[in-house]
Amino acid sequence: MKLSKAVMKLGDSATLALNSLGKQLRAQGVDVISFAAGEPDFDTPAFIRDAAKRAMDEGHTRYTAVAGLLELRQEICRRFAQDTGLEYSPEQVLVSCGAKQCVFGAIYVLCDPGDRVVIPVPYWLSYPEMVKAVDAEAIFIRTEEKDEYKITAEQLDRAIDDRTRAMLINSPGNPTGSIYTEDELRAIGEVAEKHDIAIISDEIYEKLVYDGARHVSIAALDPRFKARTIVINGLSKAYAMTGWRLGYAAGPIDVIKAMGRLQGQVTSNANTIAQKAATVALAGDDREVRAMLDEFSCRKTHLVNRLGHVPGISFPVPRGAFYVLVDVSKYYGATVNGARIEDSAAFCKACLDTERLLLIPGETFGADNCVRFSFAVSMEYLEKGLDRFERFLERLSSKA
Ligand code: PMP
Ligand code: GLU
Repeated sequence: MKLSKAVMKLGDSATLALNSLGKQLRAQGVDVISFAAGEPDFDTPAFIRDAAKRAMDEGHTRYTAVAGLLELRQEICRRFAQDTGLEYSPEQVLVSCGAKQCVFGAIYVLCDPGDRVVIPVPYWLSYPEMVKAVDAEAIFIRTEEKDEYKITAEQLDRAIDDRTRAMLINSPGNPTGSIYTEDELRAIGEVAEKHDIAIISDEIYEKLVYDGARHVSIAALDPRFKARTIVINGLSKAYAMTGWRLGYAAGPIDVIKAMGRLQGQVTSNANTIAQKAATVALAGDDREVRAMLDEFSCRKTHLVNRLGHVPGISFPVPRGAFYVLVDVSKYYGATVNGARIEDSAAFCKACLDTERLLLIPGETFGADNCVRFSFAVSMEYLEKGLDRFERFLERLSSKA
């Protein structure tokens, strides 16, 4: 059957595909170690699961308002005020099927065909695809490892022209783990202000920050920035709720209403049971969130310490999220099993074939010199995987 031009332009989500591949191989009994996970390995905390069971038993099994249950949106507003210092009314909040749907909704309602959206590189892989899906154009800003893969306000200023409608910013970032400081965000906000562009701020890793790092929302820094920012967040990462599909956006009322109009025509409300459970999750004291964070933090320290001793690689120490983006390009040029490794895809393929270790190729994020490690895996798994990674690099060194 003939497929639309719009869909033919899109790539598959490599992160979702590789994450599934890891699970599938293990289910088949293959001794694979997967560092592909873009999701916590923890179960959703019991009090949240109990809330979902209660919601079903109490009959909360029907449609809600498209924007989500009022009680949930009120809870989201309370958390914005408490955690980020942002004051929103429930009308300024839209609950969707994951942060992913919120990002897409924001791009859809802001961009006409031919409009431009600025995306810092390395990026979360779905951003450019979503921009393509609405026939807009992604303008990429390259960054360097020495700058922790962060853009500067000057770079942003140079990247914007009169067709630019919006910029995407993701802090803490996937796949880099970097966090923008208050000063950096202020400078970026001023450039957005000067050129009158919207800011889509993806803050899904807000709660996952390490070693005293602080998450700051660009919207909280200045009322002028807030008036042009759509803040996106969700429960997938902090509450280990990836499968529940629950995210939310907050921002200027006209943008949020427009995103709601789109959602009302394509998916309706997010799952009602998940909404009830999310209300309870956000109302909690975050004890479980802190326990998971402590564990992520130990794993991060361990991973970074071990990788620090591996010759020929480099990476910025992640300050947030649960990824490390490692530059392995010094190993390119080696030959394994007759195949020459010249890019991140070939590197990851050979690593999987020879060591049964699954990593995500950096090309997925616009960073072909790199591979992404996720530390959303147990310590034992981490150790085993790192042994394999070191063995793989030794093999490459001998073939260089
Ligand atoms: N933004 C970023 C940066 C992500 O890494 C992810 C990963 N899933 C999402 C958004 C989407 O999250 P959700 O599960 O809420 O759709
Ligand atoms: N965001 C996660 C990742 O980057 C999960 C997969 C996805 O939604 O793309 O791996």
